[in-house]
Amino acid sequence: MTAARQPSPTEPLVVVGAGPIGLAAAAHAHARGLPTVVLEAGGEAGASVREWGHVRLFSAWRELVDPVAERLLADTGWVAPDPDTYPDGDEWVDRYLAPLAAALDATDLVEVRLDSRVVGVAKQGRDRLVDSGREEAVFTVHVESGGVRRRLLAAAVVDASGTWTGPNPLGTDGLPALGEAEHADRIFYGIPDLSDPRVRERYAGKHVAVAGRGASAQNTLVGLAGLADAGTTVSWLLRRAGTADAFGGGDNDQLEARGALGKRAERAVAGEHVRVVTSFRTAEVVGGDDGRLTLVDADGRSVTGVDEVVVVTGFRPDLTWLSEVRLDLDPVLSSPTTLAPLIDPNVHSCGTVYPHGVAELAQPEQGLYLAGMKSYGRAPSFLALTGFEQTRSIVAAIAGDHEAAARVELVLPESGVCGGSGQFDGVPTEASGGCCGPVEPQLVTIGAPTQATGGGCGPSCG
Ligand SMILES: Cc1cc2nc3c(=O)[nH]c(=O)nc-3n(C[C@H](O)[C@H](O)[C@H](O)COP(=O)(O)OP(=O)(O)OC[C@H]3O[C@@H](n4cnc5c(N)ncnc54)[C@H](O)[C@@H]3O)c2cc1C
Repeated sequence: MTAARQPSPTEPLVVVGAGPIGLAAAAHAHARGLPTVVLEAGGEAGASVREWGHVRLFSAWRELVDPVAERLLADTGWVAPDPDTYPDGDEWVDRYLAPLAAALDATDLVEVRLDSRVVGVAKQGRDRLVDSGREEAVFTVHVESGGVRRRLLAAAVVDASGTWTGPNPLGTDGLPALGEAEHADRIFYGIPDLSDPRVRERYAGKHVAVAGRGASAQNTLVGLAGLADAGTTVSWLLRRAGTADAFGGGDNDQLEARGALGKRAERAVAGEHVRVVTSFRTAEVVGGDDGRLTLVDADGRSVTGVDEVVVVTGFRPDLTWLSEVRLDLDPVLSSPTTLAPLIDPNVHSCGTVYPHGVAELAQPEQGLYLAGMKSYGRAPSFLALTGFEQTRSIVAAIAGDHEAAARVELVLPESGVCGGSGQFDGVPTEASGGCCGPVEPQLVTIGAPTQATGGGCGPSCG
């Protein structure tokens, strides 16, 4: 293997996505003196977070600010939010991501380009087939901006473009259910903003089917409970045979707000306005003469009289624009193969995450890395803290500091679900006999530096 290219002003590090993890990567690159261009498809930094801006995070500010980014911001007179309070998505953008993007862009080393969508990454002059001169070749990054397509050279590429734009469909075989596209005007993908009067009107007094499980489904169920007095009823569709573990670890969750959300959702589901429909695998959406929908599952069971459907079934990465680079991805998750065993929900029902870095994220294409939510592929358990640690390690490797790249400098919270029913999608997992057998992760409480990490600490450390 040849030595990795060092980013330069003409061949910078290109970061795809100005979300929390892309900007953290740029902050680490700045701290190491690496020329960097951040390409963001949206009109502002944190464009995807803005789309769920009404949702309160279950992480406190201390877990949502990268420590190196915090140092850069501190030099600009930025006032850090109270580390023990919980922002919503809009506040995460307004109080952290937007100022961070501005601070980075004001430096000589980093440029943040908005309205710049990456539509392709390749090795210059070489499609995926060609071996010859591949390692030495620079990357070409194809970017669309204002209807014009341009090419940018890059010494290294960090893809932190997230998965928000790739929601899973209602169809439980992973393909859109029959009739799903036809009835798209009645189907919402994400967490409805019920503080918006127009959105409240859409769901008030309606029969709403909510498909999915996890924090987004919990948020949706809690939100819709607030419309019970307006006559809203809910059918909660679950693929699993029961609701065990559906509400997380409650008091045992080391992310207190995540545990509290689960408890609120459990109370919401206990209300008379909610009907839980288990073992339901949606296969078809059928429109009736009365204007209402019927959802039909693979076994022919149906949920009738549905006015609206909310789909919160997770996300999947967009790999289309990486078709000309060589990737080593897990066939199940589409995450880097080495990372997959640490995060696969078929193996780890607990939803606990493990610190990892460049060793798990590097791709066969030298200089290319997946980071952030995208690196988790279809796995649901990503935390921003994990992404900050990923970028610290990746950027250290790009800078040639392999000792720092190999270090683990992170402490992560447990979900508190371990040792529960041990089922993922109705299939027993090893968590039934205690969580996460084959891995020997370091699991310690947020904010508590340990000897094993060499005194490394969470984002609250200045
Ligand atoms: C509702 C919700 C609540 C969450 N709550 C928490 C929480 O409490 N705590 C926690 O730790 N984590 C939480 N997460 C998980 C995770 O931390 C966030 O999703 C976080 O935003 C992921 O950051 P990211 O930078 O990887 O991706 P994103 O935030 O999705 O950012 C990706 C960026 O890339 C841009 N982009 C996409 N495609 C392209 C392209 N082709 N070219 C250029 N730019 C592109 C997008 O516009 C976007 O700005 C939550 C996630 C969701 C959805």
